[in-house]
Amino acid sequence: MESSQYEVVIGLEVHVQLTTKTKIFCGCSTRFGSAPNSQTCPVCLGMPGALPVLNRQVVEYAIRTGLATNCTIAPRSIFARKNYFYPDLPKGYQISQFELPICEHGHLDIETEAGSKRVGITRIHMEEDAGKLLHGDSPEAKNSSLVDLNRACTPLLEIVSEPDMRSADEAIAYLKKLHQIVMYLGVCDGNLEEGSFRCDANVSIRPWGQKEFGTRAELKNINSFRFIKQAIEYEVERQADLLDEGGKVVQETRLFDSATGMTRSMRGKEEAHDYRYFPDPDLVPLVVSPEWIEAVRRELPELPEAKIERFVGDFDLNRTEAEVLAADRAMADYYDATVAKHGNGKLCANWVMGEVQRRLNEDGIAIGDSPVTPEGLAALLARLDDSTISGKIAKTVFEEMWRTGKAADAIIEEKGLKQVTDTGAIEQIVDEVLAANADQVEEYRGGKEKVLGFLVGQVMKASRGKANPALVNELLLKKLKG
Ligand code: ADP
Ligand code: MG
Ligand code: ZN
Repeated sequence: MESSQYEVVIGLEVHVQLTTKTKIFCGCSTRFGSAPNSQTCPVCLGMPGALPVLNRQVVEYAIRTGLATNCTIAPRSIFARKNYFYPDLPKGYQISQFELPICEHGHLDIETEAGSKRVGITRIHMEEDAGKLLHGDSPEAKNSSLVDLNRACTPLLEIVSEPDMRSADEAIAYLKKLHQIVMYLGVCDGNLEEGSFRCDANVSIRPWGQKEFGTRAELKNINSFRFIKQAIEYEVERQADLLDEGGKVVQETRLFDSATGMTRSMRGKEEAHDYRYFPDPDLVPLVVSPEWIEAVRRELPELPEAKIERFVGDFDLNRTEAEVLAADRAMADYYDATVAKHGNGKLCANWVMGEVQRRLNEDGIAIGDSPVTPEGLAALLARLDDSTISGKIAKTVFEEMWRTGKAADAIIEEKGLKQVTDTGAIEQIVDEVLAANADQVEEYRGGKEKVLGFLVGQVMKASRGKANPALVNELLLKKLKG
């Protein structure tokens, strides 16, 4: 029962569904959720004699992903037929890449408890997806199975890692990083639940110090990061128990059941397919020129790691703040645009991670739909800087901007929220407050200095938050000590 006697080895195969408008070998739409078989044509229905035509955008997305993951881009790669029978695959083969994939020899660096660690990427290849079977009790298929070929021929990248990860946590760190990168690149919508980003985890264990890898089990298509972690951890325990009892791990494909948190055997190695790969005679070898690769490289967006470093270096943020802001590209763009207008990176970060994020969560909307633009926010922060309003009033103004779409200045003017910096006016309020709180004044003079905070609060309240806090402090102290 002691899994710590063994070293864990994990390699991941990730299928990324690309966001191209049309399929990889025909012009049909890739839209999710349409009526079954409404997005099909002779090519993706697998009609005899129909010829595939490669979608250029798919190649570009593959190159983009390869460059972002430090791969070499092959000048020449080959599409191959992977032969097997399944009712959701009308041609009887899937077009994929085998011997010569478009990208190889990449890596990603992940953060682990022991510091940064490099995970190798063996290869990235392009392939088409299969259709979907609708089983059993769906309204369309009472006690039978129907096939929907809308998904057939939609473009996928398969990203295969080296068996470099040594724990479930490292596997999740790698997956999250990869997920973030494909979203930054705009090649994938990143939706795990809809299957746009799917992971097969290969898991094995070996006694510490042993050179050879143990026999692996492949855990199939698990659709959340949490489940992937659970599945790996369960699988490690299962294999450790097996070895402890003198048993052997058999090479097999296993399915994770999220209801029980366990994995169960789906098919063994004996049933594994011989796919009889061979080059697809319908598709010429794909030639990618160095010019094309360079053009794609020039267009690459700034990636999360570079962004985090820039935020730390240029805007004086700590790493955690920078990571939060860079987590999502749209959020990072919003922050960048705010700083570009306002200048103070720290203050902008506080507001974007604070008020803006809070309001987005409250309304359940994405940053792209924020009713307050970066320019609008910067204009509000400018009024904070020049002491027109206090921090507290700024939050009120922000809320009003959010609800009405009006500009900060208009709201400040309209509601008369300008901070009172007129000494005479504040002095009058201070006098009133001191008169009304004679007990506290006595306490203060008797040495209980904490009372000052209370008195400041009373003055601020009486001024409806508009008095300049620094002036209030100054005047109060003068009068209390005088
Ligand atoms: P297949 O095509 O049969 O799935 P591959 O050799 O392409 O086999 O390996 C697939 C994945 O399995 C890769 O991500 C690789 O890193 C991983 N892998 C291979 N051997 C092991 C092992 N012993 N333990 C864990 N992962 C492994
Ligand atoms: Mg595999
Ligand atoms: Zn089609």
